[in-house]
Amino acid sequence: MPFWSIHIEGQVQGVGFRPTVLRVAYAMGLCGKVFNTNAGVTIDLFCSKRELDEFLKKLRSKLSSLAVISKLWIEELPKIDSFPNDFYISPSLLGENKSANISPDFGICPSCQSEVLNSENPRYLYPFISCTQCGPRYSILNGIPYDRLRSSMGHFEMCTSCEEEYLDLQNRRFHSQTNSCPDCPIDLRIFPETDHTFPMPVDLMDHAVTIIQSGGILAVKGTGGFLLLTDATNPDAIQMLRKRKRRPRKPLALMVHDEIMLSDFFTVSHEEKELLRSAARPIVLCKPKKYTDLHGTQAWVAPGLSLLGVCLPADPLMFLISRKVGRPIIATSGNLHQSPLQYKDQEAIEKLMGFADAIIYHNREIYFPQDDSVFRIAENSGQKIVLRRSRGLAPTFWNKVRIKAELPVLALGADLKGTFALWEGHNVYVSQYLGNLESFDTQERYLDTLTKFLDLTGIQPQQILMDKHPLYHSRRFADNFPYVNVTEVPHHEAHFAALLWEHAALDADEPILGVIWDGLGFGNDSALWGSEFFVFHSGAFERACSFDYYDYLLGDKMSIEPRLSALAICYISGGTLDLIKGKFSSQEWSLFTRMLDKGGHAQTNSMGRLFDAVSSILGLCDFNTYEGEAAMLLEQLARNYFDANGQAAIQSYFMDSIVKDKISGADLISQIIKDKSNGLDSGLIAAKFHLTLVHIISQVIQNTGCRKVGFSGGVFQNALLVDLLHQYLGEEYQLLFHEQLPPNDENISLGQMAWFHIKNRSQKLKIKSYVLGDSR
Ligand SMILES: [Zn+2]
Ligand SMILES: [Zn+2]
Repeated sequence: MPFWSIHIEGQVQGVGFRPTVLRVAYAMGLCGKVFNTNAGVTIDLFCSKRELDEFLKKLRSKLSSLAVISKLWIEELPKIDSFPNDFYISPSLLGENKSANISPDFGICPSCQSEVLNSENPRYLYPFISCTQCGPRYSILNGIPYDRLRSSMGHFEMCTSCEEEYLDLQNRRFHSQTNSCPDCPIDLRIFPETDHTFPMPVDLMDHAVTIIQSGGILAVKGTGGFLLLTDATNPDAIQMLRKRKRRPRKPLALMVHDEIMLSDFFTVSHEEKELLRSAARPIVLCKPKKYTDLHGTQAWVAPGLSLLGVCLPADPLMFLISRKVGRPIIATSGNLHQSPLQYKDQEAIEKLMGFADAIIYHNREIYFPQDDSVFRIAENSGQKIVLRRSRGLAPTFWNKVRIKAELPVLALGADLKGTFALWEGHNVYVSQYLGNLESFDTQERYLDTLTKFLDLTGIQPQQILMDKHPLYHSRRFADNFPYVNVTEVPHHEAHFAALLWEHAALDADEPILGVIWDGLGFGNDSALWGSEFFVFHSGAFERACSFDYYDYLLGDKMSIEPRLSALAICYISGGTLDLIKGKFSSQEWSLFTRMLDKGGHAQTNSMGRLFDAVSSILGLCDFNTYEGEAAMLLEQLARNYFDANGQAAIQSYFMDSIVKDKISGADLISQIIKDKSNGLDSGLIAAKFHLTLVHIISQVIQNTGCRKVGFSGGVFQNALLVDLLHQYLGEEYQLLFHEQLPPNDENISLGQMAWFHIKNRSQKLKIKSYVLGDSR
């Protein structure tokens, strides 16, 4: 009898893969075994070639949508005489090489949703129901391959009936590692303890619900960490939450119980709905309906913005609580001001009791805390924009190009949106969003996550990549690997390289233009770049064009005070300063203008700060209370104008002044100031500004002659800009946007690896041609 060994890699653990293999083999009467390995899943089969083909065909058709096969290869082994007369799941095979993909956490599935609401079901109202198709994975993992034993479920013993399900081939919980039930429960707990007794978890949840309904704030331990919940239709509750969290204006996210409530309160497109109900259960920015209960509180939930972040419950506990509350609730991350998400019970009790009236937690530990992932879909073009990649998406990166690492690489990413990336063999991991590394707590969280992750995967980095900015905190993590070679990577080239990797264009032989616009990154001339155009050709990045420099006035303070950007740019524009003088006290004014006269500051051409300047000039925002506020308000104002007036009436500013490799931001600003001084509608100015940027990009494309254009950097979180690019350039050129990663600095870690690969390869090509040249 022929003997086949089928090796499969991809998202194949924690998705019911082995049970499906077993069922298919049983149905076909085949003999052999299936087991998890450090690399994925291996199936040993004793059957004819024809049966093998049929088996694989059936297997593919039966796999759940959560399973992703990235690689499958078959070994034909020598025939043997004695083979098993059965098919079974054998224990996981542990080896040296732990390269298995790590499945992310999966939101509660439809079957578990209906079971938990069915009073006949043994798991009726049990807040930790799960199955092979849903439940926590990455967040509870402390070893590979994925098994109950190597997760925080390890110390929970299954009761007889759970064990029966686990062993029953026909049961949908066959080999479900997160199995538990009211007879072998994960314990739900509350702090502070009250006089009430809660004989059942449902009583405790009912008590929790009354806290929300009566305008209180509840902290609840979700899949990735603690969330703060409060009634989204109660303005007093929202204001209290904002006050306690010291978060005056930053948009808050909402949770709606189900798709019915979703369509009661929001107008959602098909794509938005698909994203919301996907297993990742992300937050998606959606348009609230007018004249609902939300209408009255929208200005409190997301001041000045027309879209609200909304999600469906990711886990059964949230599912049950939100169902009982019966209206939209605010669900925001449970953290202190500028600190990472709380995920440990005791710490959460200590730190969150200042915000919350009660804390609901449980005794299933979280190993890898994660914030919610966030998406938006550009209104007109339908372009999907990842704003934050975390729970449900991290840590596996789908490596379309399947480039193999020559040695294990660790990339430390940037600072404002910390992530790390690891690359070993064919496996690429990009960590979840880890926060702004300015904060010491976030630095600790970063290092802790990195340490645990290296331990989990067994990867020992032999090459470290870090940003060129000498003051970035992320660079310091390299100190933990004293004997490892370190290479610095230019920030904006990393952005572009990440985009090229996502589009499998690292080997592109035609030139590609990269428009890399962001807050700032350390440039090759030590200025703080942020409005760059590169041409990528034959493995090299050439800086083709950028905006003019202006003074980086008061350093980092500039990103917090848009009025400083307005001042610095207006100052070199030579136009009137009357519009912005009123934004400063007389002492400030004389001090800052003296500083500008004196000169000698660091220089920047940040596009993010240009948006800030325009926002300030138009009177939208002089002080950011959260990152990106001024730019978001500017986008909103322009969007409103486009929506109300159409595009025909809007002309871009006259910007035919691109001198060789420089674009004059000052020229643009002086036209804006002129319009504003003449009393032109601010909405129209904001719209003209957006259109002008598209016009500038179009001009640079023509100058370079590229047919493919890619966009990276935080500025491309702006959906209006993305829509306009599609509209004006989409037909003529091939446009590349990020698909798996956010355009912001979260993509820098992957980009550093892509850049390293590009440089290594072109280096090798150079050496090769040199050797060839020599021998002639
Ligand atoms: Zn389920
Ligand atoms: Zn049980």
